[in-house]
Amino acid sequence: MTGVRPTKMIMERLEEGSSEEEIIRYMHDTYVVSEKKAMLGIEIAKREKAQLDKLDYENGYSLYIGIPFCPTTCSYCSFTSYPVAKWQDRMDEYVDALLKELAFIAEVSKEKHLNAIYMGGGTPTTLSAQQMDRVLSFLEEHFSFEHLKEYTIEAGRPDSITEDKLRVIRKHGVGRISINPQTMQQKTLDVIGRRHTVEDVVRIFHLARELGFDNINMDLIAGLPGEHPEEMEDTLRQIKELAPDSLTVHALAMKHGSRLTRERAASAEKQITNRWQESWKR
Ligand code: SF4
Repeated sequence: MTGVRPTKMIMERLEEGSSEEEIIRYMHDTYVVSEKKAMLGIEIAKREKAQLDKLDYENGYSLYIGIPFCPTTCSYCSFTSYPVAKWQDRMDEYVDALLKELAFIAEVSKEKHLNAIYMGGGTPTTLSAQQMDRVLSFLEEHFSFEHLKEYTIEAGRPDSITEDKLRVIRKHGVGRISINPQTMQQKTLDVIGRRHTVEDVVRIFHLARELGFDNINMDLIAGLPGEHPEEMEDTLRQIKELAPDSLTVHALAMKHGSRLTRERAASAEKQITNRWQESWKR
C-alpha cells in the first residue's frame, strides 16, 4: 500500500470509533502491515483529522484552480498538461475563460465560506507574472478571504519560477508554495524529461526564502527510472540541507496515458516478439 490509502483507511476506522488496538489488528490481519507502520499511520491520520476538524463542512468550501500548462511533459505524467512552447499564444485566452468561471463560482458560492485555495496543474508558474497577478487580483476582488485557512500555489517546476512571479505570489499573501524537484539526481531529471537542473532547484528555493516564503513544500517521487535506494538517499540528504517546511514523497505510479507507461509496454511487447521470433527460428 502506498500513497494516501493507508492513512485514509485508518482515518475511516478512527471516525467509526475503532480503538488503536483494533486498527493495528485490522491492518495486520488484512494487509500484513507491521505494528510500527500501523502506529505511524494512526499518528498521521490523527494529525490530518485535527486539521480537517477545523473545516466548516456545513458552510465552507475549497477552491481548486488548475493551470494545465507545463514547461515540458514529464515522462510519467498522466495529468492534463500542455507544453507551454506549443500553447503560449493561447494562455491569455485560458486566463480569460478561467476568470469567467471564477466569477460564476464566486456568485453561486457567495453565501458560503471560502476555507482554502489551492492552485495546481500542470504548473501554475507557467503563467507569466502579469497573468498570475491578474488571476490573484481577481480572486481578491471577487471572493472573501475572511475564512481562508490555506492559500497554496503549487509553483512546481523550478524552470518556470522567476523572481517576478514569486514577488507577485508573495504580494497577494499566498501562504504556502511548493517547489518540486521530484529528484535531486541530474541524470534522472534528464531521463524523465524535466528540463531543469538540480542547481535550478537550489537557486529557486533560496530565492523564495529570501523573498520571505516561510512555508515551502517540496515533492519527491520514489521509484523513478534508474533510481535505487542510494540515489534516493542522496536526494533526501540534499533536501535535508535545504530544510523545506514540508516534504511530500509520492511513489511512482504507472498510469495509463503516460509516456513512460507506453514506452514500457512497447519495450515489453518488443521483448516478447523477439523471444517468440528467436524460438521460432530454432
Ligand atoms: S510537472 Fe506535473 S503536470 Fe507538468 S508534465 Fe510534469 S508531472 Fe505532468
